Amino acid sequence: MTRTKLRIAIFFIAPFTAIVVIRARTTGSLDAAGESQVSGPGYDIVIANGRVMDPESGLDAVRNVGISGGKIRAISVESLKGKTVLDAKGLVVAPGFIDLHEHAQEPRNYQFQAHDGVTTSLELEVGTDDVDAWYAQREGKTLINYGVSAGHIPVRMKVMHDPGKFLPTGDAAHREATPQELEEIKNQIRHGLQSGALAVGMGINYTAGASHDEIVDVFRVAAAEKASVHVHLRHAGLKEPTTGLVGIEEVIAAAAATGAPLHVVHITSMGLANTPQLIAMVRGAQNSGLDATTECYPYTAGSTNLDSAIFDLGWQERQGITYKDIQWSKTGERLTAETFEKYRKEGGLVVIFSIPEAAVRTAIADPMVMIASDGVPVTGSKVHPRGQGTFSRVLGHYVREEKTLDLMTALRKMTLMPAQRLQKRAPIFNDKGRIREGADADITVFDPQRIIDKATFEDPLQYSAGIQFVLVNGIRVLSNGELVEGVFPGRPARAPNSK
Ligand SMILES: [Zn+2]
Repeated sequence: MTRTKLRIAIFFIAPFTAIVVIRARTTGSLDAAGESQVSGPGYDIVIANGRVMDPESGLDAVRNVGISGGKIRAISVESLKGKTVLDAKGLVVAPGFIDLHEHAQEPRNYQFQAHDGVTTSLELEVGTDDVDAWYAQREGKTLINYGVSAGHIPVRMKVMHDPGKFLPTGDAAHREATPQELEEIKNQIRHGLQSGALAVGMGINYTAGASHDEIVDVFRVAAAEKASVHVHLRHAGLKEPTTGLVGIEEVIAAAAATGAPLHVVHITSMGLANTPQLIAMVRGAQNSGLDATTECYPYTAGSTNLDSAIFDLGWQERQGITYKDIQWSKTGERLTAETFEKYRKEGGLVVIFSIPEAAVRTAIADPMVMIASDGVPVTGSKVHPRGQGTFSRVLGHYVREEKTLDLMTALRKMTLMPAQRLQKRAPIFNDKGRIREGADADITVFDPQRIIDKATFEDPLQYSAGIQFVLVNGIRVLSNGELVEGVFPGRPARAPNSK
């Protein structure tokens, strides 16, 4: 009997049984994976014969995974029945990737992230000044899971009436807060946390006018709510007395003195050539009993707004770069003294080529450093590629091609470790970042021989390749490497409301 006849027969015999009939796409290199129909009772979805890799248990073996009601219900050597069966032979079945640092929380960026294997996308560095509104905007219409921090930057901008859009350009960047303003900043961050923000976000380099007192005070608010502080350091680079090392000293001291957990964002763009010393500071803090962690993205350039305080007078010396190392994201042109002044007035994103490859490699190889994209909104044809390709780049370029680290370690850095970073405050993360019975069915299925980033600095708006299926709460958002239309299974990743 041919496949077609079989389908008709099943439908005829059991017209009231819900049977998902989906054609397997068997084009070219996609042969290794496909979908097929199975009649009768069983799981909503079975991922069959994949190499299941779970960083928590260490499981790395061929298994069948049964999913129903958005949860993983079975992990079995025996074959399982499912209404839909996804053939994962030759593919890795991993927990969906959790991105702790993604600024572009918009539908287009969620599509890029789904293609990169991300099932939970979190804006924890800049965050928001209105937690309830932020979650409400995305409820029921989001492709992947989403979450946010209570942001010191946007709260400071609101309280100090800063004219900047995303990052401050006026008083919130450059002026010390009055005692009344500081009280209001603390109140609003506390309110955000009590509304279920996952963490506190800080970017001290962008709020350079904030006193050391203010920073410690914000850490105190975080500590009282058991929230980690995800911080872009006050200083970056190699020039004393404003080195990345000085920047990390400030926040390790604040964490130690207040008890707030500390998470240092994008350690490579903070440390540059001194990245190993900064990583050693985080590891040393851990060894001394502090709850301190860090993350990196796999690129030799950073990206931020040209009109931010990072480019205040003296930026060349501080960062060890000059005009030609900066690329205007709208057009891709490298800057000159003239265009720097012009575009700084206009405001907008730039890509900054400042991070040595050795620093990137050191951070990627270190089992303690998590992977996070720091993705930015797609506001020009030459935006930074990190929001589109970070996770595939680590797995394809650094694991497979460069052998900088092994596959399980890489997966741990993008699944289990981010979940563990947040789970004490937000118990929802106890069931994420793992392939185990009872866990959320956030799952990424990829071909370890093919996975690779396609987004480059020249051509950044490209989907990653080699990711075959992505499930969010048991619903496919990517199937046979292509986006599924019209599904919005993303749910809020949020801490309990304590108001
Ligand atoms: Zn940053």
